[in-house]
Amino acid sequence: EQRVQVHSQIHNEMVDLALACNQMADQLEKVESTRQQFVSNVSHELKTPLSSIKVLSESILLQEDVPKEMYVEFLHDINSEVDRMAAIINDLLTLVKLDQKEVPLNFKELDLNEMLEGIIKRLLPLAKEKNIHIRYEKVKDITATVDEMKLTLAVANLVDNAIKYTPEGGEVEMKLDADHQNVFISVADTGIGIPDDEVARVFERFYRVDKTRDRETGGTGLGLSITHSTIMMHNGSIKVYSKEDEGTTILVRIPIRQNVS
Ligand code: ADP
Repeated sequence: EQRVQVHSQIHNEMVDLALACNQMADQLEKVESTRQQFVSNVSHELKTPLSSIKVLSESILLQEDVPKEMYVEFLHDINSEVDRMAAIINDLLTLVKLDQKEVPLNFKELDLNEMLEGIIKRLLPLAKEKNIHIRYEKVKDITATVDEMKLTLAVANLVDNAIKYTPEGGEVEMKLDADHQNVFISVADTGIGIPDDEVARVFERFYRVDKTRDRETGGTGLGLSITHSTIMMHNGSIKVYSKEDEGTTILVRIPIRQNVS
């Protein structure tokens, strides 16, 4: 009797162990496939501008007596492609740094109104070009413990997107609020919106809703990944509410105080 019991106990433990092993194998496979996908995306994203540069430079080299205007035009195009590659590499480096969790955030007290006003001031020329009105009203003084550089970049990405994905004459509205524990920053636009079935994917690296549509805006597909990582490192959360052809609202929550040891 007792032997049977011990036997069945061992059997159960083996089954549990086998299940745990299977689960771990699944997880490793997932990590590996995400990594492969990432490397393949990086290569593809860099290859596209590189091919353009190759075609542009070759067509000048192969032609005799190239007119000066053509030189200028092609060099201009090559220059934009180089800028594009630089932007991708820059974003990648930022992401890699964020991934290295051992690098501590540089937390300090920051006036968030000042931060938002700084972001708006910097992006205003971009908004003006498209005749987009940015609305922001300071409600109350809010300070929080944040990494100034990282959070500024994270929120600036949201405002930059709001301007990029909103047609001429639209509006971007920013709000800052707080309760006893959290601050809330929202960025809402009257832009093109994101289809329901794609909303969940916008934080993925290199994910773009419509590849051709976005190529024109010069995005790298990495901005929201950077924002997401930064908000997570502040122990916060980020949510997207969007309706196609109506607009998008992104809501960020971060704790007012961080446990800085
Ligand atoms: P990108 O550099 O292409 O803007 P992001 O990571 O910042 O990359 O955003 C990912 C994708 O999410 C964008 O390519 C775009 O399709 C979509 N997106 C982000 N913000 C908005 C927005 N405010 N309105 C509509 N679509 C958006």
